Formats: sequence, structure tokens, C-alpha cells
Amino acid sequence: MPDAPLHIKSLTLDELGARLTALGQPGYRAKQVMQWLYEKRAKSFAAMSDLPAALRSQLAAEFTFDDVQPVRTLGSKDTTLKYLFQLGDGALIESVLIPASPALYGEASDRRTLCISTQVGCAYGCKFCASGLDGWSRNLSAGEIVEQVLRVEELSGEKINNIVFMGMGEPLANFANLMRAVTIINAPWGVHLGARHITISTSGLAPQIRELAEQPLQVRLAISLHGATDEVRSQIMPVNRKYPLAVLLEACAYYTLRKKQWLTFEYILIEGVNDRPEDAAALVRVARQVQGVKVNCIPYNKVEGLDWKRPSEARQDAFMAVLTAARIPATLRREKGHDIAAACGQLRRQALPAGADRDAG
Ligand code: SAH
Ligand code: SF4
Repeated sequence: MPDAPLHIKSLTLDELGARLTALGQPGYRAKQVMQWLYEKRAKSFAAMSDLPAALRSQLAAEFTFDDVQPVRTLGSKDTTLKYLFQLGDGALIESVLIPASPALYGEASDRRTLCISTQVGCAYGCKFCASGLDGWSRNLSAGEIVEQVLRVEELSGEKINNIVFMGMGEPLANFANLMRAVTIINAPWGVHLGARHITISTSGLAPQIRELAEQPLQVRLAISLHGATDEVRSQIMPVNRKYPLAVLLEACAYYTLRKKQWLTFEYILIEGVNDRPEDAAALVRVARQVQGVKVNCIPYNKVEGLDWKRPSEARQDAFMAVLTAARIPATLRREKGHDIAAACGQLRRQALPAGADRDAG
């Protein structure tokens, strides 16, 4: 199979520079092209009016440009906006804009947070999650990841101040493209968003967590814990059989020590599965094993076709009370976007052929 054409937004400044030099272009060209892409937000190579015409057609022949096309936007009462995009090969992904989200990962509040996808589908098959239900199709290129940000800024007319890699897919399973995208999003010649405003969420790929600890960028890390014993966690997250809690927690401790940074344990509360008092006690023990941990509890978001339930508010509060009594830094996030199926992978599922009858909105 021939290689897929390279997305122009998958390239760093140095890489584009090397290619343009090979084409006999002067040294300043790469910066000029980046300015068109990220500052002026050009819609095509043809629009880059101060580039020689011959170069514009050369670039158009060599690179893909905008293959993240909006299909549908869904707004919710609390103004969370969900975007469904179609990629060049027809695959569907989604991004969610959460205006004025509370300070969950250490950032200032009243910021516009964008939740973006890194893969089409997900191979990890967590039992509660819509993204994994149809399996994994492919990794997104760095350009497809970066373009979600540009597209949403264009469609919403809002500047994004925070990015969370919590859409469809397991970011750390697409490590190289993720790092490339983060570099481009962070760079002054790129989207220019501070690394501290970028959070990567993982289901717990221990080796990649250690690898991430070696990266220079100070991005934030969130771990989807969801179970504080191997028994509970393996029941809902198959990845736990590969990297059991002891292995995961060691990687987390390594990360916080090496980066001198906090990390967040995400813990969705699922009725009767992980929300009992003994589960809270287990979570206290686990959180104490890693220095610099905050716990973020999220009541489960109902997924159509799955039987898991969100616990009552009284039960959520009782769970939180155990963490607070043990002085574990913990917050309870009563999810935004509940009414538009904002948990990852849900909009896409509704838009896939089997759900086509529901596609009228
Ligand atoms: N694969 C990565 C990132 C994408 S999922 C990961 O698992 O961390 C982003 C977050 O949404 C994860 O914490 C995931 O467990 C959570 N999530 C998935 N389905 C959910 C649901 N129905 N309700 C609430 N949170 C959900
Ligand atoms: Fe994949 Fe994350 Fe969903 Fe698990 S929770 S299936 S890792 S997207």
C-alpha cells in the first residue's frame, strides 16, 4: 500500500525547513509557511499569496491540507459543544469544547478547554467506554490532531486556552504522533499554547508513562484509574492485566518524582462497581503510594447500550467524604455535557451506520 500523503500540519519548523531547502527555497520560507498555517490560518496553499506560484502548487501536490471536515455540531444546555469530524479516509472522530471549565488540572479556571481525539476508535476496550466498543481502526497523524484545535477555533470563534487529550483513543498508544502534535501545539511558530495548559490522559500504559517522564515538555498527566484494587480495575479495564496496579503506581511515582509535577487520578464512579466505602478506602491507600497526586472523581456518564449506572448523589458524597477525611486532595466533577453524550466516543457511535436513524439532529 502506498504511504498516505503527509499532512502539512504534521511537520515541525525544522522538518519543513529541510524539505523546502531541498526544493531550493530560501531559509525564511518555512517560517513564512508556518505563519500562513498558524497565524493567518490560511485555508489552502493557494491562499499563501506571498509564496511563488510554482511553490504553492508543489506544496499542494506533496501535502494534504485540510482533511478534518466538520460533519455535525451538537450544543448542550450548559454550552458544551461537541464537534463530529470526518477525516480524509472517511473515518469519524470527535472533539468537545467545554467553555469555562473549572480548574481541574491545576490551570486557572474560566478557560475554554478542548478535548481532542488521538485515534479512530480505541483498542483498550474499557468496559464502560463508548470509544472502545467498535474497536480500533488507526492512529491519527499529528496533523489530524493539531487540526482539531484549528477547526474548533475557526468554528466556535473562540481561542482555546486548554487542551485535554481525553477524546477518542489512547494517546500514549500513539506516542510519536502525540509528541509531535504536542510540540506543534506548544511551539511559538505553531499554535503557541503553554505546555502547562495541555493534559494527556492515559488508561495506564506504564512504559510510556516512564517515557513521557523523559520528555522535556511540562505537559500535565492524568491517569484513568477507576479502580483501586487489581480485582476491581481488571474487571472494567483489561489494560490492568498487562500493567497491574503495582506496575502502574511505580511508573506514576517515577513520573511525579522525575518531573516534579502533580498528576491526577481520574476516578469515574460506577454504581455497585467501584463506589463502595471499601473502594474509597482502597483509593486512599493507592493515592498515598504516589507523592503529588490529586484525585478527580467523575460520576459515570451513561452510555447507550451499556448497563453501567451513575451512583446517587448521596453515594457520591459518601465516597468523597472518605477521601476528604483521609486528607487526599480530591474533587468531584459533576460532568458538563451530560445531555449531549459528551463522554468520549458517544457522538461518533450515534453517527455510525447502525445509529443512522438517530442522525436527524
Ligand atoms: N484513553 C485515554 C483518554 C481518553 S478517555 C484514557 O482512558 O485515559 C478520557 C476519560 O474519559 C477517561 O478517564 C475515561 O475513563 C473517561 N470515560 C470514558 N467513558 C466514560 C463515561 N461513560 N463516563 C465518564 N467518563 C468516561
Ligand atoms: Fe480507550 Fe480510554 Fe475509552 Fe479505555 S477509557 S476504551 S483507554 S478511550
